[in-house]
Parts: sequence; structure tokens; C-alpha cells
Amino acid sequence: MQVLQKKPQDIKRPSLSSQDSYRGRFAPSPSGLLHFGSLIAALASFLDAKATIDANGNQGKWLVRIEDIDPPREKVGASTAILTTLEAFGLHWDEDVLYQSQQTARYKHTLNELKRQQLSYYCQCTRNEIKKLGGIYQGHCRTQKNSKEESATRLINQYGLYQFNDIFQGHICCDKKLAEEDFIIHRKDKLFAYQLAVVHDDIYQNISHVIRGCDLLEPTARQLTLYATLNKKAPQYGHIPLAVTKPGFKLSKQNKATAIDNNNPQPALISALLFLGQNPDRYLVHEKVPDIINWAIKHWDREKVAKVKEINIELN
Ligand SMILES: [Zn+2]
Repeated sequence: MQVLQKKPQDIKRPSLSSQDSYRGRFAPSPSGLLHFGSLIAALASFLDAKATIDANGNQGKWLVRIEDIDPPREKVGASTAILTTLEAFGLHWDEDVLYQSQQTARYKHTLNELKRQQLSYYCQCTRNEIKKLGGIYQGHCRTQKNSKEESATRLINQYGLYQFNDIFQGHICCDKKLAEEDFIIHRKDKLFAYQLAVVHDDIYQNISHVIRGCDLLEPTARQLTLYATLNKKAPQYGHIPLAVTKPGFKLSKQNKATAIDNNNPQPALISALLFLGQNPDRYLVHEKVPDIINWAIKHWDREKVAKVKEINIELN
């Protein structure tokens, strides 16, 4: 069967209004080496940035952020290994890499600011207690005078935003009850919650487009609420299908079968392009990495990315 290939000039380019520029990012956590699932997310976010040209004729910028705020989950040396892999795969980032572990003073400032504006409160409820009440937090501690010690901090959720338009998936409607929950922004174990850190950094780095896997669809609702609370404009979100080994089972960093080979990036790059629906030419697998990447930028077509949340892949 012959696959019809659109000519690059026929691909609808992502459009930007005249003053806007595209700033995308890839934000891995250093809990292990990059695997095929994370390569797909890295490649999609890179290509979407580089294929978007602003009014001044510049390609989008693509940044890398290491989400290393959860020390117990980190693997020694993983950050460096991730960066080495990105380079081997021709995914070169603009600007300095941002490490979340170095941003805690800024997170703290925002946390204090939310507290000062009475937009957060201390919660001492346990996971079990919440589970007994149906699994959705009902705001029990909003009116309690809990001390800071032994407490998590929850955001007073004034917006409960739960719908948005996704670049790839179209109209998304998240779980409304979950989206309306007062969610945790600072954990009992003194670590900053993912939602606070990620929104904070996307604002700080002026990110305009967040391209990532569908495993982060639901958290997007909370992030939109956090943007509204902080009175900031949210980026555009695009969620690509998740690579799964069977329904509901995403590739994990523990899964050795999915490790990608820095010394032979071509086959994995081609597989990733196929996964993203981009129909790479067969001869490309014999080309140099920069040539594959250039082909992929030129032919990147958002419309070819499957509008599904998961795609099954065969493990070798
Ligand atoms: Zn509570």
C-alpha cells in the first residue's frame, strides 16, 4: 500500500499571532534513563517548536528542564545521562538547562504569597481518611486552624477548570470532581508538589506551548486552575499518545526492554516518528542523525499525530 506523503509546503504550519514567539520545553525527571516513551515526548516537543516559525522568521525555542525535586525517586547520574542521550539523538536545546532543585527559593516565595493572600491552608488529613470519604478531598481543613508542622499545604481551588482545547486531542473534558478539589501544592514531607513547581517554571521560562504525553492530561486541569489563581496566561497544551505495552500500562523506566541506544539512534528515531504518525521515508534510517531531524522538522504535521490516549507497542 502506498502512503500518501504530504509535501512540506502543503503541511499546515502552527500559527502564531504577530507578537508571539514559540517557547517549548521537555521536562524529564531523573528517575532513570530515557526510554522509548520519553524519547517520543522529547521528539514531539522538539519538532513542534522547531517547525513553528514566528512573524520574524525564527524557529521556536526548545528548552530542557530537569525535574529533580523528588530526591527519593532520583537515580545518581540520570540527569547527565538524559542530556547525553538527547544530544546523541540530535535534540539540541536552546538556553541553559534549568534544574528544579535550584529553584526552591522561588517556589517558596510563591507558596508564601499564596498563604499571605489566604489562597491556601494547612491540611493534616491522611490519604486513608480521604479515601474513606470517597477519594476526593472535601476541603475539611479549610476552616481548621492547623499548624504548619506535619501539614501539607492545599490550594483553595476557586476555579475548578476542567476543560481545554488540546493541540492534538481536541476538546478535553477532565474529571470535574477531581479538578475542583483543593489540591496539594506543598507536601507533608516538605517537598514542593509537582503542580506548583511545573506551573512556576513554565511561567518563569515564559513557556508558550507544553507538548507532553497523555499521562499528564488530568493534571492539566489543576495546572490551569493554578495559572488562573496566579493571574497568569496558561500555555497551549498538546498531549501525544502514550506508548503502552497493554492498555493502561505505560512504558516504565524500569523496563529494560525499552532502553534506547545512544550509539545507534537512527532506528529508535524512525520508530518514534512512526509512532507520531509522521511516515518517515524508508531510506532515512541509513542517514545521519541531523539529516533525520531536519527531515522531521520539515515534515512535522500535527494533524498526523493520532487522536488517541494510548498506542500499544510491541517490545522486542
Ligand atoms: Zn485536611
